Amino acid sequence: MSIKNLPLIGDQTKAVHAGEYPDPVTHASAPNLVMSTTYVADADAGFSVEEMSENDPFLYTRWGNPTVRQLEEKLATLEEAETAVAFASGMAAITALLLHRLRAGDHAVISDVAYAALSEMSNEMIPELNIEVTKVNTSDTDAIRKALRPNTKLIYIETPCNPLLRLTDIAAVAEIAHSAGAQLAVDSTFATPAATKPLLLGADYVIHSLTKYLGGHGDALCGVVLVRRSDLAPLRKKTAIRLGGVISPFNAWLIMRGIATFPIRMRVHQENALQIAACLEQHPKVKRVLYPGLPSHPQYELARRQMANFSGIITFQLENGREKAREIAEKLRIIHYAVSLGHHRSLIFYLHSEDLLQTSFKFATSEQYASWNAFAGEGIFRFSVGLENAADIIADLEQALG
Ligand SMILES: *Cc1c(COP(=O)(O)O)cnc(C)c1O
Repeated sequence: MSIKNLPLIGDQTKAVHAGEYPDPVTHASAPNLVMSTTYVADADAGFSVEEMSENDPFLYTRWGNPTVRQLEEKLATLEEAETAVAFASGMAAITALLLHRLRAGDHAVISDVAYAALSEMSNEMIPELNIEVTKVNTSDTDAIRKALRPNTKLIYIETPCNPLLRLTDIAAVAEIAHSAGAQLAVDSTFATPAATKPLLLGADYVIHSLTKYLGGHGDALCGVVLVRRSDLAPLRKKTAIRLGGVISPFNAWLIMRGIATFPIRMRVHQENALQIAACLEQHPKVKRVLYPGLPSHPQYELARRQMANFSGIITFQLENGREKAREIAEKLRIIHYAVSLGHHRSLIFYLHSEDLLQTSFKFATSEQYASWNAFAGEGIFRFSVGLENAADIIADLEQALG
């Protein structure tokens, strides 16, 4: 029985059933975890990756694994993609896509505020490969247009972006990219498929760190690249199989189990975040709150148009953020003072502007600094609202804020 024959319509049904089927031998209802690295082959099985096709029997787990294949099928169904390739982490997925798409002499436009490791990579490692990078504030479509060059091959955005929660208009940027003969890649980790389906808005590639909302439980790293129409076999061969950053089948199994409840979790993340963001906005010690679901977000109209769920991340500012962070870290009882996001547990972390600007973002223009300062000032608390009762989260925050 294959997913292709099942009538999967709603996202909850897809999250539960896509990619899964009862085991033909044991009739087990839950998916098996296949840890085997190798498979008993036919006497005439080939040993060339070039000749490999997706329908060949499994040969070696770096090439393909039944549990990982099930996860990829589930993700492709949820994102309305044609294919998905899973990687060991979100960063492995991003690296694979950049190395797949860009060659020496090419140019890429990359969001000036994006996941720190990607920003750091595009400051040094990517230019060292003779690939030019222009970093722009991608919420400004004119800035993107101005950055385009004849050799621009890729526009890379993150929406909402980490950690500012600034949005980019996917449909508008897809049009700009395509009219310039370039492609658009969207890191949709913060939005998730519950909010936005970038491929349906014209994006060519979608990336997720599954470590965050899709896995949802903070116990497995994983990343994925998805495409709508084209074939991902070359990406799989060149990057997953040859560079080798593939996901462990055990982690694939954990992520798949997490995804089953993902649409339901996102509803509660949003519900809690809306309540808590409104509460923080009223708090006398809080200077500023940013949440795409609040009318005070500078891009609230775009958020309403592009996000069917506002997700669960809030950023807020306090006076003397750095000092307050130390105090809050010691006082919190339910919320963990920790990095990462999208878990069932609430997580909070302070990001000091000076540190980020020196190590990760390194803006080129005064406009970029001005835009950062307008959103973040000296620093922001990134708050990933979990699935605890909103009243308990609020009480913990209030006692920590003092
Ligand atoms: C966490 C994150 C990544 C990196 O994912 P890992 O699984 O930690 O490698 C990439 N993009 C965004 C937006 C993230 O939040």
